Amino acid sequence: MATHDVAVVGGGCVGCSVAKSLAEQTSLDIAVLEKEYHLAEHQSGRNSGVLHPGFNYEPGSLKARFSTEGTRRMKEYARANDIPLDECGVVVVAQSDEEEARLETLEAQADENGVATELVRGQDRIQQYEPHAAGQAALYCPEAASIDAQKYVYTLASDAEDLGVDFYLGYTVEQLHRRRGGYRIETDKGHIEANYVVNAAGLHADAIAHDIGVGEEYQVVPFRGEYYELTPERRHLCESMIYPTPDPSLPFLGVHYTRRTDGKVIVGPNAVLAFGREAYRNTNVDLGELAETLGYEGFWKLLASPKMLRVAWNELHKSYRKAAFVDAARQLVPTARDGDFRRSYAGIRAQVVRDDGQLVKDPVFERGPDSLHILNAVSPGLTSSLPFGDRLADEVLDALEGAET
Ligand SMILES: Cc1cc2nc3c(=O)[nH]c(=O)nc-3n(C[C@H](O)[C@H](O)[C@H](O)COP(=O)(O)OP(=O)(O)OC[C@H]3O[C@@H](n4cnc5c(N)ncnc54)[C@H](O)[C@@H]3O)c2cc1C
Repeated sequence: MATHDVAVVGGGCVGCSVAKSLAEQTSLDIAVLEKEYHLAEHQSGRNSGVLHPGFNYEPGSLKARFSTEGTRRMKEYARANDIPLDECGVVVVAQSDEEEARLETLEAQADENGVATELVRGQDRIQQYEPHAAGQAALYCPEAASIDAQKYVYTLASDAEDLGVDFYLGYTVEQLHRRRGGYRIETDKGHIEANYVVNAAGLHADAIAHDIGVGEEYQVVPFRGEYYELTPERRHLCESMIYPTPDPSLPFLGVHYTRRTDGKVIVGPNAVLAFGREAYRNTNVDLGELAETLGYEGFWKLLASPKMLRVAWNELHKSYRKAAFVDAARQLVPTARDGDFRRSYAGIRAQVVRDDGQLVKDPVFERGPDSLHILNAVSPGLTSSLPFGDRLADEVLDALEGAET
């Protein structure tokens, strides 16, 4: 039986970042427990890999602060560690007067957040940035970038390991048993003791928190995001990233184009209810987890909103009918044709819904006895992971100091 000062559950970008930050600041004995044999197997390795510089988050909010700081720090970290990075910028396109007005709001927000943008009007100006994008105006943000997310997580982990952090790969945490001043952590390979637990288990973080009576008013409702990609000969249709104007009342962005660091252009993701927390295909069903979602009152309260119901229906349509997905994609790039798109990978968001049906937009940290639980580390969780890791490490250190005094 091993004993550690701090055990971090989850080897995604959040778990690895908090472990690295703790190891940099202290001589505590730290362990990361990850159920897969590889790191970044779930959200952290199945995302768009975009560094969101923060123009679309409310000034003063945690998301705005973390994404702006996170983008700059991750670029420096990537350059210092040879992590593939493409500083290509993003073009956010408006198709109507209403969307153009929203871009003006975004431009003002970007200014407040200290993020440089340029608002251009007319098709000719848009095409100076993206020759195949269509719209009546666009907000160009040069700070957006694309990063190799898996390589990033492995680099974080390797830095943490060099600082003495132990990684237990292939260890599934099954239960936490409270003991005096910490936990006995039951895993599928025996137990480990820790004085403090950081729960960064992504899609399963709510289950671990609920196990010890924390965050019971929240539940993860898994939303799958599916991608298509452009065929190699049509990748020139997007040189950087082409986004639609976001709808502030919705948590997910519509289908968009992203040029990845490996040169592929991915298109998506949509946002469709997943029939299981790791149900990456639209034919995968985990009956137990589906029943959990369908039995959750918060889920039905969320769907009670006519707008959400309409969005859910449209997204479902995009999942099962390629033509519906392509139609959405062609609004941004009209010269794209059905044959230009082929199915690519999917990711699943650990989206938290509250008992009252509210779809939570900000990250939630819940403090439990000798434990910290990160629920709802949704987008831009990858972008924010360095400042987020520092913030969580500070929380852990404060709690441990408090326990000593
Ligand atoms: C489709 C999609 C697109 C996205 N695009 C972007 C983007 O472009 N930019 C951006 O900034 N953010 C993006 N995000 C958000 C970002 O990916 C997440 O915010 C971030 O990866 C969350 O990291 P995490 O470490 O909390 O979770 P995860 O990466 O899911 O890590 C949790 C880890 O915990 C492990 N685990 C779970 N249960 C247990 C257990 N019982 N025992 C041991 N281990 C366990 C899992 O195996 C997993 O490795 C996107 C997300 C998705 C799904």
